[in-house]
Amino acid sequence: MERQAVLSADELYRELYKAYGRPPWWSQDPFTVMFQAVLVQNTAWSSVQKACAALGEVPSAQAVLALPVEEVENMARPCGFYKAKARAIRALAAWYGGYGFERRAVQAQPLKKLRGELLNIKGVGAETADVILLYAFYQPAFVVDAYTRRLLGRLGLDLKNDGEVRAYFEAGLPRSARHYGWCHWLLLEHGIAFCRKRPRCAACPLRAACAQRLK
Ligand code: SF4
Repeated sequence: MERQAVLSADELYRELYKAYGRPPWWSQDPFTVMFQAVLVQNTAWSSVQKACAALGEVPSAQAVLALPVEEVENMARPCGFYKAKARAIRALAAWYGGYGFERRAVQAQPLKKLRGELLNIKGVGAETADVILLYAFYQPAFVVDAYTRRLLGRLGLDLKNDGEVRAYFEAGLPRSARHYGWCHWLLLEHGIAFCRKRPRCAACPLRAACAQRLK
């Protein structure tokens, strides 16, 4: 039987771009990215959207620090794990405050140092840290999430851990926050629309290149 050719990261990115078009950026406001990156942990993006719509607008980091903790908990409540999420949001606001709430001051630091600082915050794991570095501060930190791992496995790539997943994208894409951010967003879109736990292969735009497509 003829072996299925496995897509390179660049080919995958182009196929997704062709299927979904130019993706949006998470948010232009750094603290909105931080706030939502915590809220979305272990919950659907639609719950985050509902919670933020109810707020009217995401508060600034300064406002979060000035609020009683119970109010921040109430903001996080619709997304579950609200006490832990409120604590992480307040810790991120304080961390940002350490840089004077200035994006440029954060960007002046080495990526490795920033990642270490974020990972030291309780409630901020690798995925959340990379989302913040990438979308809030435009650092070339590729975000590896469950959708990405699942898709690559189904496409026939034998990648053993998140480091190998990251290396696959870093080797194939231009090293720029824009490409990494767009690519991650497209992977997310594809995972939500087609490559779900129970995949919708019949109409999938990657069907021709997929090793595990269902009939
Ligand atoms: S063909 Fe099916 S398994 Fe393959 S990428 Fe598409 S939805 Fe996922």
